[in-house]
Amino acid sequence: MTNKITDIFGCMVFNDDVMRERLPKEVYKSLTRTIATGKHIDPTIADVVANAMKDWAVEKGATHYTHWFQPLTGVTAEKHDAFISPVGTCKVVMEFSGKELIRGESDASSFPSGGLRATFEARGYTAWDPASYAFVKDGTLYIPTAFCSYTGEALDAKTPLLRSMDAINTQALRILRLFGDSTSNHVDVNVGGEQEYFIIDKAMYDRRKDLVYAGRTLFGAPAPKGQELEDHYFGPLKTRIAAFMSDLDEALWRMGINSKTKHNEAAPAQHELAPIYANANIAVDQNLLIMEYMKKIAEKHRLVCLLHEKPYAGVNGSGKHNNWSLTAGGKNLLDPGKTPAENRQFLLILAAVLKAVDDYQELLRVSVAHAGNDHRLGANEAPPAIISIFVGEELNTIIDSIVDGTAYKGAKKAMMDLGIPTIPVFRKDTTDRNRTSPLAFTGNKFEFRMPGSSQNIAFPNTVLNTAVAESFRQFADRIEQAEDREKEIARVIRETFAAHRRILFDGNGYSDEWEREAARRGLRNLKTSVDAYFTFMEPKNVALFSSFGVMNEVEMRSREEIFFENYSKIINIEALTMIVMASRDYIPAVEGYIAYIADAAAKKRAVCEDVSCAVERDIIRRLSELNGQAYSAVQRLRDVETQAASIADVKDRATCYCNRVLPVMEELRRAVDEMETLTASANWPVPTYGDMMFRV
Ligand code: ADP
Ligand code: MG
Repeated sequence: MTNKITDIFGCMVFNDDVMRERLPKEVYKSLTRTIATGKHIDPTIADVVANAMKDWAVEKGATHYTHWFQPLTGVTAEKHDAFISPVGTCKVVMEFSGKELIRGESDASSFPSGGLRATFEARGYTAWDPASYAFVKDGTLYIPTAFCSYTGEALDAKTPLLRSMDAINTQALRILRLFGDSTSNHVDVNVGGEQEYFIIDKAMYDRRKDLVYAGRTLFGAPAPKGQELEDHYFGPLKTRIAAFMSDLDEALWRMGINSKTKHNEAAPAQHELAPIYANANIAVDQNLLIMEYMKKIAEKHRLVCLLHEKPYAGVNGSGKHNNWSLTAGGKNLLDPGKTPAENRQFLLILAAVLKAVDDYQELLRVSVAHAGNDHRLGANEAPPAIISIFVGEELNTIIDSIVDGTAYKGAKKAMMDLGIPTIPVFRKDTTDRNRTSPLAFTGNKFEFRMPGSSQNIAFPNTVLNTAVAESFRQFADRIEQAEDREKEIARVIRETFAAHRRILFDGNGYSDEWEREAARRGLRNLKTSVDAYFTFMEPKNVALFSSFGVMNEVEMRSREEIFFENYSKIINIEALTMIVMASRDYIPAVEGYIAYIADAAAKKRAVCEDVSCAVERDIIRRLSELNGQAYSAVQRLRDVETQAASIADVKDRATCYCNRVLPVMEELRRAVDEMETLTASANWPVPTYGDMMFRV
C-alpha cells in the first residue's frame, strides 16, 4: 500500500463531493433530492449532469461510457461506447448527452428473459439509476442502470430491488407516524454483505477442467488434512494472500467501497471480506464490484478467486452474510435501546420481521436457491434449508413474557472480569452468537446467512423488504383505524408474537432433531433448489409482489422459468464436464497406471521367476474393478443426461437433473475418488485437494 487511504478513497467515483463541486447549485440540489428521497428526477437537468460527468470522467482517463446493468444471468453486463462525435470529416469532439445518460437502447435478445420477450421484440432499455453513483473503471465511465423490456417489464435484479425499497419506505413511514414521528420523510434499507471466497494458484486452477467450466471440483479425494484443526479461521495471512488482499483493498477504496474487514475463514484457502454497510441499492452494486475485483486482482497475483458456494467437498462452503437494517433520519430502527422490553416501536418492528419471515419462508428460501447453494443449505453445513430466526435469550424472554402475559425481569448486564489486573473489565453482550441460524438478530440488524457466495444479493433483499413491508402494511391498517391506538399496538405485538413464535429457534440448526421439530411446527423444509422453485408462484407470493408493484405475475413467471432453466443448465455443464474428465483424463490415466504395474510385474518375473507379485495383482484387481465402475457410470451418465436434456418442460427437466442426473454424478465421483487414492501421484492427471488447498 503506497497511497494514503484518505487521499485515494472514492477517487474514481462521481460522488456527492464531486457533484457539489462540478454541478450548478440548482442542478446539484435537484439531483441530491432525487437521490435522498427516491423521487422522480427532473429530466431537464440531465444534459448538465451528463456533461459534468463526461468532463470529470475524461480527466480520469475515460474514453468510453457504459450503461452497467444486472441482467438475470446473475452477473453484470456492459457495452462500451466512445464519447466521440464527428465534427466535419476528420475531427471528433468528446460528447455525452443527457439522453445518452438517461436511456440506453440495446438488443436484449441474448439476455435471459424467461419467455418475457420473444426474439422479434428484442428491444431492451437501460435507465440511469441516479441513486447509485457513476464511476470510472479501466478507461470507461460506468453508469449504474435498470434494465427493462420494450414493454416495460423488469429484466434485471435492480428494478425489483428499487421497487421493494420504495414499498418498505412507504409502509415503514406509516409505522413511524403511529409513534408520533412526523418529521422523518424517508426510511432507508441498509445492507452489509460479508463476502466469502476461496483462493487457488492459477497454474493448478488451469489444470482442473471442473474448476474452469463449473467453478467447483467435481472430483477429488479428501486431503489428509481438512479444517479439523480449526487453525485456518482467523489464522495469520500467508504472504501471497496478504499481498492480494492489500491490492484488493486499495482497488476497492478507489471505487469508494468501504472495505473494512478481512480474514482467513474456516476452510483452508478460504477467506472473507466485509465492507461497511451502505444503502441496499448501493450495497448490491458494490458487492457486484467486489466480486469482480476479487477475480481481477487475484489474476494479477497469478491466483484465481473461486466464488462458487462449494469449490471443495468435505470442507466449508462460501456464503454471503447479508446484514439488514432500517434507518430513518440516521437512526437505526432495529436498535432495541437499553430497555427493549419497554421499546414498543422496536417490538412492533421485531414482530413485523418475525411475521414476514414466517409468512414468506418459501420466498426467502427461493431467493437463495441455486444449484451451487444446494451444497451448503441443508447439506450438513451452515445454515440449514429450514428458515428460522435466532433472536437471543434476552429477546426470547421478552417475547415469551409478552405472549404469556408474565412479568419481564430484565437481563443481567454482566461484566467480564478475566481476573488479570492489567486487562480492563468490560461489559458483556446480553446474547451470545448462534452460527447455525439462517437469520440471526445480531444486536441491531438481522443477518441473513443463506445467500450463496456467488449470487447477486438483490433478490434476497427484495424479498426481505417486500415481506416486511407487507407486515407493516397490515399493522398500520389495523392500528390507524383503532380507537385506542396505544392498546391496539400492544395487541398487535402480542398477537403477532403468539402467532409467529414458531419461527424462532435458538438451538443447533444442523441437528436431525431440529428437522423433526421444524416439521412438527409446520415450517417448510425445502431441501433442494428445485423443491424451492416449485413454491415461487404460490398465490400468496404472487399477491405479495404484485400488490406492492415489485413484480407482476408476468415478471415472476419469467423469473420462475429462469430459475428452472438455469438449474438445468448448471447441472448439465457439470455432468458434461465429468464425462469429459472421466473419459479423457481419469480412465486413461488409470489404464496407464495398470499397464505400468503389469509391466513392472512381468519385468520382475523375468529377473526372478518366483518373486511375489501380490501387490501388483491386488492393485491391478482393485483399480480394474473401479475403472470398470467409472466407465459404466460414464455410460449411464451420458444416457441420463441426454434424456434430461431432451425434456421440453422446464420444470420436468430440472426435476430430472436433480433427481436422476445428480445421483449418477455422485456414483461416478465415488469410483474416481477411490482410484485417486490407489494411483501413484505421478500418474494422476490433475492437482489433488491437498495441492489446491494447501499450496497457495
Ligand atoms: P460479524 O457479524 O461477522 O462479527 P460485524 O458485526 O462487524 O460482523 O458486521 C458485519 C457486517 O454487518 C458489516 O458489513 C457491517 O458493516 C454490517 N453492519 C453493521 N451494522 C449494520 C446495520 N445496522 N445494518 C446493516 N449492516 C450492518
Ligand atoms: Mg456477521
